[in-house]
Amino acid sequence: MDADVIIVGAGPTGLTLANELLLAGARVVVLDRLTERNPQSKALNLQPRTAELFDARGWLAPIADRALTNLPGGHFAGLPLDYSVFDTRFPYQVGIPQGLVEETLETRLTGAGVPVLRGTELLGLSQDADGVDLTVTGTGGERTLRAAYAVGADGGRSRVRKELGVAFPGRDGRISLVVADVELADDPALPTEWRLPSYEPAENTTTFLTPLADNVFRFLFASEDQREPGRDLPITEDEILRALRQARGGGVRLVRVKHASRFTDASRQAERYRSGRVFLAGDAAHIHLPAGGQGLNLGVQDAVNLGWKLGAAVSGWAPDGLLDSYHSERHPVAARVLQNTRAQGVLTVPDPDVQALRAITAELAATPDGNRLLAGMISGLDIRYAMPDGPAHPLLGARLPDVELRSGRGLLLGGRAGIAAGWRGRVDHTPGDDAEVRLVRPDGYVCFAGDTDGLDAALTRWFGAPDGQRTHFSLSHKLPVASTVDGQPAK
Ligand SMILES: Cc1cc2nc3c(=O)[nH]c(=O)nc-3n(C[C@H](O)[C@H](O)[C@H](O)COP(=O)(O)OP(=O)(O)OC[C@H]3O[C@@H](n4cnc5c(N)ncnc54)[C@H](O)[C@@H]3O)c2cc1C
Repeated sequence: MDADVIIVGAGPTGLTLANELLLAGARVVVLDRLTERNPQSKALNLQPRTAELFDARGWLAPIADRALTNLPGGHFAGLPLDYSVFDTRFPYQVGIPQGLVEETLETRLTGAGVPVLRGTELLGLSQDADGVDLTVTGTGGERTLRAAYAVGADGGRSRVRKELGVAFPGRDGRISLVVADVELADDPALPTEWRLPSYEPAENTTTFLTPLADNVFRFLFASEDQREPGRDLPITEDEILRALRQARGGGVRLVRVKHASRFTDASRQAERYRSGRVFLAGDAAHIHLPAGGQGLNLGVQDAVNLGWKLGAAVSGWAPDGLLDSYHSERHPVAARVLQNTRAQGVLTVPDPDVQALRAITAELAATPDGNRLLAGMISGLDIRYAMPDGPAHPLLGARLPDVELRSGRGLLLGGRAGIAAGWRGRVDHTPGDDAEVRLVRPDGYVCFAGDTDGLDAALTRWFGAPDGQRTHFSLSHKLPVASTVDGQPAK
């Protein structure tokens, strides 16, 4: 074996996953066909749940130090959402370009000696009972790497997904947009503060202009010819200038275009996230309109869900069904993001009837319950996984805010010393006098809460048999097929 796990793709998903696996003690190799990181940052934000997860690992500070700003709250199709209603240390979005997040995550890996093989492209993949063979090409020519597991974190056009033959149902893009980072000449009329996207029906178009740094602005606009949304159609300076002038008036002066690319509202999701020893995560598993700023966050959270489970498999203590729970937990979460981004796309259509719907949606979003529902959805704070163990408890399956999980192990809070001794090395224990205990998975979700009746079963279900015993429980027999999101059955 060349590694325990080979990750294809050094985007935010692959790099987060590699860091998670490193914590679990796995031997990881990351490969990416690009010789250098894509200089254009698509995403510009960490949602509260992602900030919480990075913070729990102790990784947030170096990222937040490089943030351009914090955005108070979020938005749904441009309608403002208040995150301060949640019990979180991060009731805001960390405003940071994707490239800086990737760089920080990659620096952690290279510092720990994890190979990140750039200029190495996956060409093909096959698997047998014991491992996965990946045919790659790079500076040394074509060769085959072998690992116990492989993960396709290789973006929306994933080669891994295609090699596996996993279906990617959904629909193609209907609108084409351009995202451009442009340098503009000084002009007092230009915005000086980062702002949430807004929608101005009077202009009959959605544009978004926000300052990044040094007179460079992020400018987003819909392409002129919606009938030809070819993603690879070259973008001219004239096209950008015309859109800028339409949005900002004739006085705007374009100094240069730093980066520009097209994207669409295509919406698709992989039918299954696991194929034997190979997994799909991030954009390789789901694509959608980047409305509300969710894609990077979804991918990072896929990685945090999968990382400790794969780590357990590599370490040899994964209980039956643990690896399958990655699909059953994460597929419904992305399905809901696809649903909300499609809804957001509709709400920006410049049609009087759609605007009537938008006006009513705005009223609903401004109510406490409406805000809570939408803000929970976009921020990632409302995710709740189905947990088979324990008495009904408001925390079961939900995230535990403010919990430190730097070791990447599970955490038992409360109960007398020694009750988790059989799981030492897999579960840390902070004893306490509370009447109830809380068992937190390495990804920050509570998998048991209550008195200690049933605790051993939950420990065994999620962390394997205690030292020296066989596994008695099989997750695959107990877990429902789909998780719920905020108490609602996921579609
Ligand atoms: C205009 C725009 C704005 C966005 N804004 C936001 C936002 O504000 N917030 C947010 O959360 N999300 C946003 N997103 C979405 C976000 O950028 C993506 O969801 C995110 O990049 C997904 O990360 P990933 O690691 O899964 O995939 P990617 O970032 O696509 O990384 C995949 C990597 O795999 C590599 N690769 C591909 N094929 C191969 C191969 N065969 N062999 C080796 N390597 C390969 C690629 O080179 C790439 O580096 C936006 C997207 C767009 C288009």
